Amino acid sequence: MTGTWAEVDLSKLEHNFKVLKALLKPGVKALAICKANAYGHGLAEVAKRLEQCGADMLAIARVSEGVELRENNIKSEILCLGEAEPELAALIADNNITQAVGSLELAEKLSQEALSLNKIINIHVKLDTGMSRIGFYVPDDVKARGEVINKILKLKDLKGLNIKGMFSHFANAEGDENYTQSQIDKFKYVKESLESQGLKLGTCHIAASDALILNQASHFDMVRMGIALYGYKSCVTGNVDSNLGLQPAMKLKSRISSVRNLPKGTKIGYGCTHELTRDSIIAVLQVGYADGLPRILSNKCSVKINNIKCKVLGRICMDMCMADVTDLINNNINVNVGDEAVVYDEELIVDAARKAGTVIHEILCLCSSPRIQHVYLN
Ligand SMILES: *Cc1c(COP(=O)(O)O)cnc(C)c1O
Repeated sequence: MTGTWAEVDLSKLEHNFKVLKALLKPGVKALAICKANAYGHGLAEVAKRLEQCGADMLAIARVSEGVELRENNIKSEILCLGEAEPELAALIADNNITQAVGSLELAEKLSQEALSLNKIINIHVKLDTGMSRIGFYVPDDVKARGEVINKILKLKDLKGLNIKGMFSHFANAEGDENYTQSQIDKFKYVKESLESQGLKLGTCHIAASDALILNQASHFDMVRMGIALYGYKSCVTGNVDSNLGLQPAMKLKSRISSVRNLPKGTKIGYGCTHELTRDSIIAVLQVGYADGLPRILSNKCSVKINNIKCKVLGRICMDMCMADVTDLINNNINVNVGDEAVVYDEELIVDAARKAGTVIHEILCLCSSPRIQHVYLN
């Protein structure tokens, strides 16, 4: 491999799936989230493995991702979590994608399309119970909930639509038990009201990774496995139990393209933001911010060479960065052009997310840069 590449160990993904599955009561289904190129791990390969492992359903956020799955011969039920544009109704129907529906407008458009194609479009009703993002809005005030219940009941009369599930999404499952409980209560209330009026809802689900791990009462009929499937707890600063033995499935690697001896006082990179405080040996790496290493980590992050952490010095460039390998050489550890460097492993990615002020999800997504080739192990 040249440049920067991602190494994905599919057996670790399988391991994580089994660990999470073991937390579920018998009969609770497991949906595997593959959106955003499977969190940067590569959509098709990841989806194939998860299908083999026995995931009951796969989920994506864009209709185009669902189409890509079908083109790769994925047969599982595919749920599109995102709010699809009504113009995509034909694609949704043709590719047998189950679509999240959080408004009557989308439901009506899908119904018309289904009728004109002479097909059935499967949907999961999406509720907004407190995330304020998408879905039928459920007010805090119980007495004001009649309107939303009546709206959802109208879906029953739309021809060509088949309601196969209902779901919602937690806003703060890791941080606020009370808020999470209020979302569960709203979800239950709407579920029971609809069912008592004869609407069959099918598979009901609300828990993503955090709630899956922290709150068994939130599991309902199915859980949605996201970040935990890829081996991480959700939040960098979070208190989600890390002793589950989840195994991060991806490493980002790069190569050393040159090794240079530079005297004390030399300035490094754009803006001359680092000045060497000793005679140093600097390795230039084939990884920059176009390869998934954000520029905001300049002078902050490290990479690993020969399994030893080396500081990145100066600004990260678009295609390269410079790492200090002086200590390795001083300890008689050879550093050569062509050697591998690890840009992200579990330790480095957690550190990078913290220093960049973001979540691991976002750093993983950076590994989808078109420059990065994915290699699959096991
Ligand atoms: C992305 C997403 C998830 C996965 O969340 P994780 O925290 O990664 O487990 C689950 N549900 C919905 C609706 C999402 O958009």
